[in-house]
Amino acid sequence: MTTISCTVDLIEALTPTVNRVLLTPAQAVSFSSGQYLQLCLSDSDKRPFSIASTPGQRQLELHIGGSVADQYASQALAHLLQQHQLQQPVQADIGLGNAHFRADSERPLILLAGGTGFSYVYSIAQTIAAAKLDRPVFVYWGVREQAALYHNSVMQQWAAQNSKYRFIPVVQQPDQSWQGRSGMVHEAVLADFVSLEAYDIYVAGPFAMAGVVRNAFIEQGAHREHMFADAFAYI
Ligand SMILES: Cc1cc2nc3c(=O)[nH]c(=O)nc-3n(C[C@H](O)[C@H](O)[C@H](O)COP(=O)(O)OP(=O)(O)OC[C@H]3O[C@@H](n4cnc5c(N)ncnc54)[C@H](O)[C@@H]3O)c2cc1C
Repeated sequence: MTTISCTVDLIEALTPTVNRVLLTPAQAVSFSSGQYLQLCLSDSDKRPFSIASTPGQRQLELHIGGSVADQYASQALAHLLQQHQLQQPVQADIGLGNAHFRADSERPLILLAGGTGFSYVYSIAQTIAAAKLDRPVFVYWGVREQAALYHNSVMQQWAAQNSKYRFIPVVQQPDQSWQGRSGMVHEAVLADFVSLEAYDIYVAGPFAMAGVVRNAFIEQGAHREHMFADAFAYI
């Protein structure tokens, strides 16, 4: 872990409750795809956010928010906005987490995101595409409402790059215009795979979802040592 200083270059709305943040570190940074940083609001208040960008990109991208406005995200955003307006840097601890992408595996992949857990999955999906990995990859992204799928078209384009890549958005409470999958995202995975034994599975989202996924997927054959989620350390 390294503590770095970053300028806040951009804060823009992706949805009414989720914001995209771009930071430029003052020094070269080292992290793996799928890791997170902790934004330092103070010495004793550090909040984890998955890094949506990939190693080697000049800026660090974050997706901050959730289906409902909460203080976890809004206080972090208020801090970022204040430092941006004052043209002052923010501090972050970077290179955190053990649920980073394992490129050396030969196994097919399931990447599962709930809400802003998409940030984590997005970094890994970009790394896979940049390396032109030719393994089957299934990206599931579950949201409460269709409007929360802020990178739907980006991910449709991602899937179009390789016939082995699939993107499956799942809306929990769809309106009548929604043509895709509905319900809870982990239930879509359980319905699509008779056994999860063969897969490397990467998971990010609300803690409650991570707990349900861990139990239900192991029951459907997934190996715990092939499941990766930093939320598992918290629950
Ligand atoms: C290491 C780490 C990294 C984090 N990174 C970020 C980040 O990058 N950005 C950020 O804003 N916050 C982050 N957080 C905080 C927290 O994880 C998010 O605020 C949370 O995931 C936001 O969920 P949501 O409101 O977007 O999802 P929701 O809208 O609540 O849920 C989305 C979908 O998840 C599934 N789901 C939700 N609840 C359940 C359940 N009980 N059972 C089964 N499925 C369920 C459903 O399919 C639902 O549609 C992080 C926390 C940690 C510990």
